[in-house]
Amino acid sequence: MNTCIFCKIINKEIPSHMIQETPSSLSFLDIHPHAQGHTVIIPKKHVKILAELNDKTTQELILDVKKTMQLLQNKLHPDGFNVGWNDGVAAGQVVGHLHIHILPRYTNDNGGSMHSIIKNPGKRSVEDIAKMFSK
Ligand code: 5GP
Ligand code: ZN
Repeated sequence: MNTCIFCKIINKEIPSHMIQETPSSLSFLDIHPHAQGHTVIIPKKHVKILAELNDKTTQELILDVKKTMQLLQNKLHPDGFNVGWNDGVAAGQVVGHLHIHILPRYTNDNGGSMHSIIKNPGKRSVEDIAKMFSK
């Protein structure tokens, strides 16, 4: 039995305030908003993290993110957005169905930026890490 809460939202077994549905994704208002119009967008296919999503659905998902942002822009007129997701438990993911947070931002809303998520660069220098990627 599928106990995933977001799969239940997709299957309309539990209600949500949906703002967009496409063949491959659903966008709905977060039940505990961190900003006016905080929305989550999920692929209809159950995967936990982005690495599990096939390339075609990934492409569709980012296009659907763009469409949802446009809808929010038209209705709520934010001044900017933070868009991202918690990919894995270590990154703060609670619901185990991939979901992208779309946070509309408003001038002087007292929020931070992506940089406020973590400030712990670890022991390896930037140069050492760069060497790990050099061919
Ligand atoms: P996470 O920490 O996993 O990235 O975020 C999960 C998000 O899903 C949270 O922001 C939480 O408020 C939201 N959420 C959890 N359960 C529900 C639900 O039943 N309905 C809606 N609309 N949002 C939910
Ligand atoms: Zn699911």
